[in-house]
Amino acid sequence: MKTAKAKFIVSTCIWTQEDGWDMESVYNTACGQASQFEDGTPEDNRFVYCPYCGHPIEVVMAPKKIWEEEEDENVTNAHA
Ligand SMILES: [Zn+2]
Repeated sequence: MKTAKAKFIVSTCIWTQEDGWDMESVYNTACGQASQFEDGTPEDNRFVYCPYCGHPIEVVMAPKKIWEEEEDENVTNAHA
């Protein structure tokens, strides 16, 4: 009896977008690399296959964050 067990095969290289503080975006690849794009997504830059491992790229965009506004209040607490 043949049992076709579906192994967990990574057929794509997932590129996870990091938080883009500036115009640039950094993508962490599933194969342990990182790529930086000054503009656009890997697709926009015609990145279809991961240049590191050769797998098709699957881009996971960073979830939209609620930017924490760190207000630097120049309030000096007077510690007596
Ligand atoms: Zn890869």
